[in-house]
Amino acid sequence: MAPRQFFVGGNFKMNPSNVVTKQELLKNLNDADIDPSVEVVIAPPSLYLLPVLELLRNDIKVAAQNCYYKASGAYTGEISPAQLRDAKVPYVILGHSERRTLFNETSELVAQKVKAAIEDDLSAILCVGETLEQREKDQTVQVIQEQLQPVLKLLKVEDWSKVVIAYEPVWAIGTGKVATAAQAQEVHKDIRSYLAKEISPEVAEKTRIIYGGSVNAKNAPESASQPDVDGFLVGGASLKPEFIDIVNSGK
Ligand code: PEP
Repeated sequence: MAPRQFFVGGNFKMNPSNVVTKQELLKNLNDADIDPSVEVVIAPPSLYLLPVLELLRNDIKVAAQNCYYKASGAYTGEISPAQLRDAKVPYVILGHSERRTLFNETSELVAQKVKAAIEDDLSAILCVGETLEQREKDQTVQVIQEQLQPVLKLLKVEDWSKVVIAYEPVWAIGTGKVATAAQAQEVHKDIRSYLAKEISPEVAEKTRIIYGGSVNAKNAPESASQPDVDGFLVGGASLKPEFIDIVNSGK
C-alpha cells in the first residue's frame, strides 16, 4: 500500500477557448465515476476559476495555473496567493516549464512564489524538469536539483506537506513523447533521495512526486505502478474524456 495519496492534476493551460466547451468539460467531470481514494485537481484559466468552483462537484479541487508572490499592489495582470485563498482556490501550479521558458521565470522567482503561496495557506504543485539537450548531456539530476534548491532554501520543513512535486521533462510536454515508466521512476527516486538528504527522510517519504508529459489513458497505468510515481499532471489529455481513465489508473 503506497504511503502517499495518488494525485492527478489536469492543467487546462489556455483552454478551452469558449464557454460552451467549458460547460461540456465540467459535465464530463461531474458525471464521471472517480476513484474516491484519488486526489483530483483541475487547473482552468484564471478567468474560469470562480465559475468552475461553483459548478464543479466538491470532491474535485481547483488550482490556479500561476500566481505572483506579493499580496496586493501595482502588478498588472497578476493574481496573488491571498486573492486565491480569498476565492477558496486551494492549489496553485508553479514553475511550469511554459512559465519558465516563455515567461522567463527563474527558479529563484518560482521559489518566492511557492513560499508566498504556502504562507497564504495554498498548496503548490511545483514543476521541475530537464530539456532534451540537458538529458542528452546527462544533466537531468543536476538540473532538477538546481531547480529545487532555491525552494529548499526558502521553505521550512513543515511547509513540505503543502507541496506536490511534478516531474515534467520539457521534451515530453505536449510532444506525444512520453517518458517511459522506468525513466520516470528513476528521476522520481532521485528526487526523493535528494529530499531525504537535504530535508529529512520523513519529508521524502511523504512528499508526492507526480509525472507530467504526454500522459494518456494508455501509458498511465504502467507509470502509475512505479513505486515513486504518485500520480500525474496532465495537460492535453485533461481536456478529453480519457482524463477520467488517467485519474483511475492508480487502482
Ligand atoms: C503539462 O502541461 O503540464 C503537460 C504535462 O502537458 P501534456 O500532458 O499535454 O504533455
